[in-house]
Amino acid sequence: MKIFWQQQIVEPLLSLPWHFATVAVAFTLIGIAVCALVVYRKQLRWQHETEERLEDAIQTRTFELQVTLTELAEKNRALEEQNTLDALTGIRNRAYFDKKLQAELKRSRREQRPLGLVILDIDHFKQINDEHGHVAGDAVIRGLAQRLAQLLKRSSDHVCRYGGEEFALILPNTDAEGVLALAEQIREQVESAPFTTEIGDLPVHISAGCYSAIPTPDTLNTEFIHAADQALYQAKRGGRNQVQLFPSKALDSSEAGSSGEVSDELIE
Ligand code: GH3
Ligand code: MG
Ligand code: MG
Repeated sequence: MKIFWQQQIVEPLLSLPWHFATVAVAFTLIGIAVCALVVYRKQLRWQHETEERLEDAIQTRTFELQVTLTELAEKNRALEEQNTLDALTGIRNRAYFDKKLQAELKRSRREQRPLGLVILDIDHFKQINDEHGHVAGDAVIRGLAQRLAQLLKRSSDHVCRYGGEEFALILPNTDAEGVLALAEQIREQVESAPFTTEIGDLPVHISAGCYSAIPTPDTLNTEFIHAADQALYQAKRGGRNQVQLFPSKALDSSEAGSSGEVSDELIE
């Protein structure tokens, strides 16, 4: 190999006049440099293309990931929404009521505005179930939920199924008179039109307990529920198909309980 180099390249070069040798070496070096440059540029282009491909792939994956995340967030929201709905009636359920009451208590305290609460219960509902069956009973519960939702006029008001055949109304920015007026309007409306079921129209009565107050920093949501519950108990004890306010007449003669005696002016 060494002999070959010497015989074929070195010796012929040495035998050339020195300027030919210099030119030959220069051309060889230039050739090598050009080759190196071409290889380098090719490598650069390949590297650039690879980077672009990689960047494209990353962008595509990032976009796909964003779409998936958005879809997931929407499904999550829908699922959360679903979890706040009552299966039988489609209105908000007890879990939602608990959260909403807590939130509205805080807001009312911050804004120093009265918060109203009504808990209402169908009178002698067991009798409806026993005499007409649970399917008819379910239809009555569904019908009442619909009526309640229709009768609430402010978008800030909330109706929830509290449990069984009991419903709760959260009425922000509503004083005792307003709460009583609305509850009485509902009671009258329920009494005035029977509920349609598979076995025919059924007359229904409700009793309601009302409470309204501006919460203090110490007020617990259970105090509101307890007060409305007490008033509901008074309404049941008073003969049903009526609306009572806590504290009741029996406890505080200055507070007006109500049974069909509320002025229309108070009803918004
Ligand atoms: P009161 O006037 O004192 O309220 O008497 P009531 O018969 O309504 O008594 P209570 O409120 O204790 O009865 C509630 C009944 O409601 C008992 C339960 O079997 C029935 N109930 C609870 N949830 C449902 C439901 O989803 N569908 C049906 N059809 N009945 C239910
Ligand atoms: Mg009940
Ligand atoms: Mg009942």
